Amino acid sequence: MSHLMNTYARQPVSFTHGEGAWLFDAAGNRYLDGLAGVAVNTLGHAHPRFTAALKQQIDSLIHCSNIYQIAEQEALADKLCGLSGMQEVFFCNSGCEANEAAIKLARMYGHGRGIDNPSIIVMEKAFHGRTLATLSATGNRKVQAGFEPLVSGFVRVPYNDIEAVRQVAQHNRDVVAVLVEPIQGEGGIRTLDIAYLEQIRKLCNENNWLLMLDEVQCGIGRTGKWFGFQHADILPDVMSLAKGLGSGVPIGACLTAGNAVGIFKPGNHGSTFGGNPLACTAGLNTLNILEEGGLLAHTERIGKFIRDGLSTSLQGVNGVKEIRGQGLMIGIELDKPCGDLVKLALAQGLLINVTADTVVRLLPPLILSQAEAQQMIDILSPLIKDFLHS
Ligand SMILES: *Cc1c(COP(=O)(O)O)cnc(C)c1O
Repeated sequence: MSHLMNTYARQPVSFTHGEGAWLFDAAGNRYLDGLAGVAVNTLGHAHPRFTAALKQQIDSLIHCSNIYQIAEQEALADKLCGLSGMQEVFFCNSGCEANEAAIKLARMYGHGRGIDNPSIIVMEKAFHGRTLATLSATGNRKVQAGFEPLVSGFVRVPYNDIEAVRQVAQHNRDVVAVLVEPIQGEGGIRTLDIAYLEQIRKLCNENNWLLMLDEVQCGIGRTGKWFGFQHADILPDVMSLAKGLGSGVPIGACLTAGNAVGIFKPGNHGSTFGGNPLACTAGLNTLNILEEGGLLAHTERIGKFIRDGLSTSLQGVNGVKEIRGQGLMIGIELDKPCGDLVKLALAQGLLINVTADTVVRLLPPLILSQAEAQQMIDILSPLIKDFLHS
């Protein structure tokens, strides 16, 4: 009997090593990685330049403490702010922690404005993590059930519906911030309209609210831009990052600009592991390798290649509702629950994931070649057709 807590429905496979977009099991079978550890392995597996940088860092210094100055952390903060236009960074270890920092910032910002019960607008079908505050912000009963009482101070509205936010603005004086994913990942690869992003920015300005974007899944080049919000002409006040930032090494970040700058003072927030030299070296090298390899343009191109390829091969197939996404964040929505496709794909040597019950989700590493993208289409299309017709 396993001594692991029963928190995951795991696939019956275990990997010993990886190379590029491929993973290998102990029997020597190889699998094309269409999931990248859920948008984590940005550079794929065993990227030579990346692992060399990590090895060098391990040999010099893995961890010290935030009691001391950490040069790697300063360098990564400079790089992230340069790429995003944001101003300050707090480093943590995961996506939920980055959102916790954002939620704490919003509350402190509210108290600074004399609001005793600050509230944050959040979206239906949102996913922000599994700590108590972030599961309360999450718009999925399955994530919350059994953990009541939930953390209060969240007001929920439908995704991509600016009128709903305007209504709240008129009636609720306690609101201090909006927290939203530019593309919902767990919610089924749903994209905010550019117009919505620009209107929400304007509403936040008019009401002195913080615009807080959860880019934990869609950030770090995933959509073909460094950050999802860069598809629009806006800058958020707060942005949370994690997943792809360290290419597999745990790291999260909460970035601020505008009205969110300078809210925390020493003693207000912290993290033992957050921003250690190893994690920051991973972050810095991820960003540098993406930049120098022209991998953002590549991501945009390969993403379109996959969406177009799937659209062509699944054209007219009954039961395929929509193929959508941006860059290498791709969803194929079917008209019935399709969790079984994960096992069927695994048997064909392809790793995929199903989210929101009916959406096949592809989040391959950003180094995926066009030939590998074609292989992915060639395996997945017949599988989906067979599945829908059986
Ligand atoms: C995965 C995810 C999180 C939670 O990140 P963890 O590292 O698992 O805590 C938060 N927000 C979004 C959008 C995510 O996709």
